[in-house]
Amino acid sequence: MSTHLTPAEVETAKQAAVAAIDAAADSLIRLSKFIHSHPEIALEEYESSAACAEFLEERGFALERGVAELPTAFSASVSVGDGAPHIAFLSEYDALPNLGHGCGHNLIAIAGIGAGIGAAAALRHLPKGRVSVFGTPAEEAVGGKIIMANAGVFEGVDAAMGAHPGTSESVCPTVEGSGEALACVSVIIAFHGQSAHAAADPWNGRNALNAVIATFNGVDALRQHVKSDARLHGIIRHGGDAANVVPHFAEAEFFVRGGTVAYMNELVEKVRKIAEGAALITGCDLVFSIPDEANFDMITNRTMARVMDAHQRAVGLVLPEAKPTPASGSTDWGNVSYLFPSVETNYPILDRVCTWHSQDVVDASDSALGYENTIKVAKSMALTAIDLLTDPDLLRSATAEFQREREARSI
Ligand SMILES: [Zn+2]
Repeated sequence: MSTHLTPAEVETAKQAAVAAIDAAADSLIRLSKFIHSHPEIALEEYESSAACAEFLEERGFALERGVAELPTAFSASVSVGDGAPHIAFLSEYDALPNLGHGCGHNLIAIAGIGAGIGAAAALRHLPKGRVSVFGTPAEEAVGGKIIMANAGVFEGVDAAMGAHPGTSESVCPTVEGSGEALACVSVIIAFHGQSAHAAADPWNGRNALNAVIATFNGVDALRQHVKSDARLHGIIRHGGDAANVVPHFAEAEFFVRGGTVAYMNELVEKVRKIAEGAALITGCDLVFSIPDEANFDMITNRTMARVMDAHQRAVGLVLPEAKPTPASGSTDWGNVSYLFPSVETNYPILDRVCTWHSQDVVDASDSALGYENTIKVAKSMALTAIDLLTDPDLLRSATAEFQREREARSI
């Protein structure tokens, strides 16, 4: 594969991208304000996703709405020549219940769309390539990206980017140990025993709540013997019906998180053994289930992140230096990152540190700094896409890194 472009031709494409984003900036901010003022929670982002899809359609993207049988998901593409390579931007737009845009997904939406518009403008100056913007719902709940990945919506994509807002400490994940997220899965542990009068004939009962409590104690003991990035946390969803009745049914839910999917799976099996032991000592029957797909850990592509970081600084985004920070949360981006080279960059929308998923973030997501930095990040993603579209060696290095990291996580 060779695009035979001169540096001057690449520069022309990049100038076209930046000019297109500058020209669209006011409309992008209006779109973001609309999403911010109409907060819609996971899988109910009807107005937000429709507004995003229309915005792209009006600007020449071919739209497919309701992909992966998700009414609020879409794909939008512009293709030139044979459509290769295929670079994707992922947008989110779901809000948090009773809070609104306390995670800034109204900014994530326009970061991806802005980058897509910029890269599409550049494509007109390139012999071939494809640029897509995917509307990915429900990041805060079921994880729309997981459903879209399983449905094959991302097939043919060579590399993907997205941007998540953050505090003054947020940065592009250029160094090992930054930009990572834990693999995470929810397990439901239900016990069925035998009810009895808790005072008159408790010896006839088999106590399902005791089994749940034994499970919690077992998990607490397990914590001493897990790696530092493991997280095991749970609640009792049902603990009985009345204090004078031996609980015949009790149920707990745990989130099991690990640094990789493989380690998370190992921990799930340990939790299963604990629950089996709890069933044994209480004489209850165990139903152990995993209702939802796991979030995979995030395989951040450093090759792409380093290019993006340079572009972010070049377009004037003020960022601290990247440093390793332990992974804590989990995201459906992780599942995408197991498919092809991926970067979800972070960038500041505040000039300080604050608690996330909060009113502070709701305010920052509709602030001048928030919009200004989101537009800059959109430019940096478009410019990174142009590098990937025009420099086969860069895409090859990113892909080689991805394959190494993916193979190291054999699942
Ligand atoms: Zn978020």
